[in-house]
Amino acid sequence: MSTIPPIYDVIVVGAGPAGYSSAIRCAQLGLRTACVDHWRNKQGQRILGGAHLNSGCVASITLLESARLYHALNHDLKKHGIHADNISLDIAAMIQRKDSIIDALGHKITDLFKLHKIDSFHATAKLIKPRQLHLTPIDGSEPYRLEGKHIILATGSSPIPLPYAKVDNEFIIDSFAALNMTTLPKKLAIIGAGVIGLELAAIWGRLGAHTVLLEAQESFLSLPDQQISREAYRIYTQQGLDLRLGARVTAAKKVGKKVQVEYQDQEGNHSLKVDRLIVASGRKPNTENLAAPEASLLLDENGYVHVDENCRTNLPGVFAIGDLTVLGPMLAHKGIEEGVFVAEQIAGKHTAIHYDTLPSVIYTDPEIAWVGQTEQVLRALGEPIKIGIFPFSATSRAQASGRTEGLVKIIAHAESDALLGVHIIGPKASELIAEAVLAMEFSASSEDLARTIHAHPTRSEAFHEAALAFKKMLSHIPG
Ligand code: NAD
Repeated sequence: MSTIPPIYDVIVVGAGPAGYSSAIRCAQLGLRTACVDHWRNKQGQRILGGAHLNSGCVASITLLESARLYHALNHDLKKHGIHADNISLDIAAMIQRKDSIIDALGHKITDLFKLHKIDSFHATAKLIKPRQLHLTPIDGSEPYRLEGKHIILATGSSPIPLPYAKVDNEFIIDSFAALNMTTLPKKLAIIGAGVIGLELAAIWGRLGAHTVLLEAQESFLSLPDQQISREAYRIYTQQGLDLRLGARVTAAKKVGKKVQVEYQDQEGNHSLKVDRLIVASGRKPNTENLAAPEASLLLDENGYVHVDENCRTNLPGVFAIGDLTVLGPMLAHKGIEEGVFVAEQIAGKHTAIHYDTLPSVIYTDPEIAWVGQTEQVLRALGEPIKIGIFPFSATSRAQASGRTEGLVKIIAHAESDALLGVHIIGPKASELIAEAVLAMEFSASSEDLARTIHAHPTRSEAFHEAALAFKKMLSHIPG
C-alpha cells in the first residue's frame, strides 16, 4: 500500500448535498479540499450528487412532475373547457427523462468541483485514524491513504431492509428501484406511509397504479401538525389512495408473477396479491464500515454518529453532517446548511445554523410543508397560543387554477404575538413555506405578516389572510 503525500486541509467523505456543498464552501474559503465518493449510476459510471440526486428527492420530484402533468391532462383539463384525446403514457421515456436530468445535474457538480479545484476521488473511504482515511478505488486499483487536517463525514443514509420482505428489486423493490420501474404495475403495495411511501404513492398512483399503502402505525403522519395530517388523509383517500393504517406487514414473497403480502391489523391477518411491492419502511445512517474499530468513532445505539451542536464528533478534526447525525431530520437542505456551517468553522469564520427554522416538505400532490412547532407540541408545553387558519378555496387564485384543496395554519404566541409555527397543505406548499421561514428567521409577529402587502391574486394571500384572522380584520378576498 502506498501513501499519497498531499495533506489536505479538508477531506469530505460523500458527495451528496451535505458533502458537495461542504467541499465547495471549503474551497471557496481557500482550504485545500478533496472529496471522496463511490456512487455509480445505472451504467456503472461515476456520478456525484449521492442518493439525494440519483435515487432520492431529485429523482422523485422529477417523476412526480411528470405524474402530476399526466394526471392533470386526464382529469383537470376538462374543468378548463380543454379536451385532449389520445393521451398515452411512455413510462420508459419518463424514466429516461429523469435519468438525463439527474445526469446533467451530477455533471454540474463535477464542473463546480473542477472550477473550485477540489480533488475528487472515486473510492470507498474508511476512517482509520482521526486525520487519516483508507481509500479503496472503485476501478479496482491499489488501495491508498489520504491525510487531511480536517475530515467531514457525509455518507448519508440508505433504506432499512426488512428481513420478512426481502428486496429482489424486480418484484419486491426498494425506493431506488421504485424510481426506475419502466412499466406501470396494475396493483402496487407500499410498506410504510412515511414521507417516502407517500411520495412514491403520489407518483405511481397519479400515473394510474391502484396503490395500497400499508402503515403499521394507527395514526397517520405523526410529524406534521395533526390538523394538516387529518386534511392530508382526507385528500389522499379522496384521490383514490388506499391507505390502511394499523396494518403491519409480517411477510412478503414472490408467487409466480405477483407478490403475496401478509399483514396484520386489529381485525386479524390479511393477505394481498399485488404486481409490485415497494419497501419504504425507513432509512438508516451509512455508518457501517465508515470507521475502523481502532479509529474509535463514537456512534449511538442506532448507528448515528455522535456529534455536538457544532457537528464535531468525538475525534479531533472530524465532523459529521447530514443524515449521519440526529441534529435534525434527514433532509437535504439540513445537510447542505450543515456542510456550509462546518466549512466556515474550519476556516475560522463566525457562523451559525438555525435548526428552529428548518422547513420540512412532503412532495406529494398536494404538498405538505411546515416550519416551527405544531399545535400539539405547543399545547403539551403549555404555551399560550392563538391560531389563524385560511383555506386556499377562499382565494381567487386557487379558484382560477382549479386546485382549491388545502389550507394555511399559523400559530402565534398569544401574548408576544411571535410566530411559532406555520403549516401548509396545498399545491406549491413547498414554495409558499419560504415566506414563513423568512418571517420566523426575522422574528416576525403575526401583525408583521398581517401588515405585509401580498400580491393579489396569489396563493400567498392565504398566508396573509391566516395572519389577518388574529386581528379579527375582515378578509380582503371575496368568496
Ligand atoms: P419514515 O420513518 O418516514 O416512514 C416509514 C414508515 O414505515 C413508518 O411510518 C413505519 O411505521 C412504517 N413501517 C415500518 N415497518 C412497517 C411494516 N412492517 N408494516 C407497515 N409499516 C411499516 O421513513 P421513510 O419514509 O423511509 O423516510 C426516511 C427518512 O428520509 C425520513 O427521515 C424522511 O424525513 C427522509 N426523507 C425526506 C424527504 C423529504 O423531505 N421530502 C424525502 C425522502 C426521505
